[in-house]
Amino acid sequence: MVRLRILFIIILTALCIIVSAQVRVRLFSNQTPESAIFSVTEGTYEITADNREILTVLKDESVLIAGFNGKLTVKTRNAKGFVCDSLTLSAKTGNDSFSLRIIGILILKQYYTGDLKCYPDLGTLVFVNITDIERYIPGVVMAEGGNGKNLEYFKAQAIIARTYMYKYFDKHITDNYNVCDNTHCQAFNGVSSDTLCDRATRETRGLVILDKDNILIISAFHSNCGGETSSSYDVWLISQPYLKRVTDPYCLFSRNAIWQKSISVSEWISYLRKSGYNDKVDDPSGFNFVQETRLADYKTGFFIIPLRTIRSDLNLRSTFFSVYSKGDSLLLKGRGYGHGVGLCQEGAMVMAGQGLNYREIIDFYYSGVNISDIKNAVALH
Ligand SMILES: [Zn+2]
Ligand SMILES: [Zn+2]
Repeated sequence: MVRLRILFIIILTALCIIVSAQVRVRLFSNQTPESAIFSVTEGTYEITADNREILTVLKDESVLIAGFNGKLTVKTRNAKGFVCDSLTLSAKTGNDSFSLRIIGILILKQYYTGDLKCYPDLGTLVFVNITDIERYIPGVVMAEGGNGKNLEYFKAQAIIARTYMYKYFDKHITDNYNVCDNTHCQAFNGVSSDTLCDRATRETRGLVILDKDNILIISAFHSNCGGETSSSYDVWLISQPYLKRVTDPYCLFSRNAIWQKSISVSEWISYLRKSGYNDKVDDPSGFNFVQETRLADYKTGFFIIPLRTIRSDLNLRSTFFSVYSKGDSLLLKGRGYGHGVGLCQEGAMVMAGQGLNYREIIDFYYSGVNISDIKNAVALH
């Protein structure tokens, strides 16, 4: 058994990640597009339908793609329309970009680089963008990074986004793409239009966060920790040495530092009853509960329920809240926004504003990690 384990570790260290330069991202993955307009904004694209080259699309020209009876109908302005099973639009000049406009209840138009594949699937159209990783990352930083207009903060976010992407590169492998463009993977609303996000990505090219065994970390982050981050165990029951609690003095005065919610005593009782609470209630002050530092469970009398369950059932901003009875109501006074694990974005923005660099920011929130090139990561996810 021990020998097997050693052998496994040796094989593991020998196998390094085969680093891909491109990522396949499903676009508009939380919509169900039935038709779309593809327009070339730079360069030239070539259309291949069912593996046959059909025609070339030049700058400012458009292609209408629509689903029809489980197939695609494709129409350009100057050529005859045709029907096919799948379509590839390939970039030809090396400096090519396009917009994709989904026609539906909302008209959504976003800009991309690289190639686009399209095929029908269960009444919707699947669009997969095959693009350079270093063009994808700044788009993620822009979509996920919030309003922290600071280079060092964006560098930390770029490294986090790159780490996450490589760690979950196979998340949708059975669907023939790597990641989707919504928060199930990472939000990506097309290429970045922010020069600071572009620069932050360029200046951290290839960098990821590894644990002490050179395994990509779970690069969790959230909006505001309320002064103390959560351990991954308290939130997900997964223990990671680099996702421990950290006391965070930086985010205490930021936008999402505190919240309040009032809830009637009867509502609270009926919620707790559904979760198994069956004590007789004489005095609502028995529901009072104080979190000076983060706790894992809410307790009233002998009844215990995980705070993460309350947060998700009642859609609260965080689990870091205290309860105070006030007449017929209970006041929930909370701190922070999000699950609290890993990097606190608003704290990181303040750190960057105070002149700390991306390494200091990452080291502060993830204990004992290394920032290294992706080539140094071992294959284990
Ligand atoms: Zn996904
Ligand atoms: Zn914080």
